[in-house]
Amino acid sequence: MKTTEIEKQPILQVSGLKQHFVLKKEVIFQSKQVVKAVDGISFDLFPGETLSIVGESGCGKSTTGRSILRLDEPTEGNVLFKGQSLTKMNKRELRNIRGDIQVIFQDPYASLNPRRTIRQMLEEAMAIQKVLPPNQRESRMLELMKHVGLRPEYLERYPHEFSGGQRQRIGIARALAVNPKIIICDEAVSALDVSIQAQILNLLKKLQKDFDLTFLFISHDLSVVRHISDRVMVMYLGKIVELSDTASLFKNPLHPYTKALLSAIPVTDQTQRKERIILKGDVPSPINPPAGCRFHTRCPFATDLCQSEEPILRESQNQHFVACHYAENLSS
Ligand code: SF4
Repeated sequence: MKTTEIEKQPILQVSGLKQHFVLKKEVIFQSKQVVKAVDGISFDLFPGETLSIVGESGCGKSTTGRSILRLDEPTEGNVLFKGQSLTKMNKRELRNIRGDIQVIFQDPYASLNPRRTIRQMLEEAMAIQKVLPPNQRESRMLELMKHVGLRPEYLERYPHEFSGGQRQRIGIARALAVNPKIIICDEAVSALDVSIQAQILNLLKKLQKDFDLTFLFISHDLSVVRHISDRVMVMYLGKIVELSDTASLFKNPLHPYTKALLSAIPVTDQTQRKERIILKGDVPSPINPPAGCRFHTRCPFATDLCQSEEPILRESQNQHFVACHYAENLSS
């Protein structure tokens, strides 16, 4: 789907989302330590689009997905699904709405019960969400197996009898079984070989069209993100630093961190090769993130202002948002 085709009414609205984890004290008089994994992010997800969240390990991308689903209770902020607040729902309301927002994890084996056949798992998912009367579930399961490219007789098998790619197809079938509107793909292809990755990505794209799905795609792999996304959101130390449609972000990245990430993507066409930007130092601790711009300790363009004043996420170009005081002056 092209950005221009994206409907304007968001299906999911995230506002001021924070996820802070208080660490256990190791010494009795130690002061309280708080990991600010996600620290006040806001964004919309539009029906039918694929919005990817990218960033290095520890940037808060997976925590964002978990907080939306309330697998970890958010510390602050609000998440609206079709106008209803997920953050204010009680457990029963939340259980009812879980069918609408499904998740596919990186390690399908860990999320599939090894003692249950694929049939039992699909049946259970449909029973919990009350999808179809029991006598209609058999045909639905056969349909799902076909959609994800698995043979119907595999329904009787156990997860250990499948390869990594096949297990991910089972994870997708289980998510689809409850007729979701949104699927959060958390590093869904990261553990797979490159050739299998491509197959699963193409399958997801096809299913998105067939089932009218919206994806929140979480990945550290920019090549994968470029292939599947309509829009991309870049996170650094719990904050959004850039958000734009995929073409603009890859053609004209505005934030120095995004530029560094993109410069690290291997290219086959040597005319497209850009000078690699090596960032100095490691990502600072989210327990005590730097004041001002969180990226200033690694940014080659940092000034005094960057150390004292936090840049807000603002629209620099048409629907291209960036959190950097000097983004327009740094354009390459
Ligand atoms: Fe670098 Fe300053 Fe921009 Fe932060 S605000 S990315 S430190 S130039």
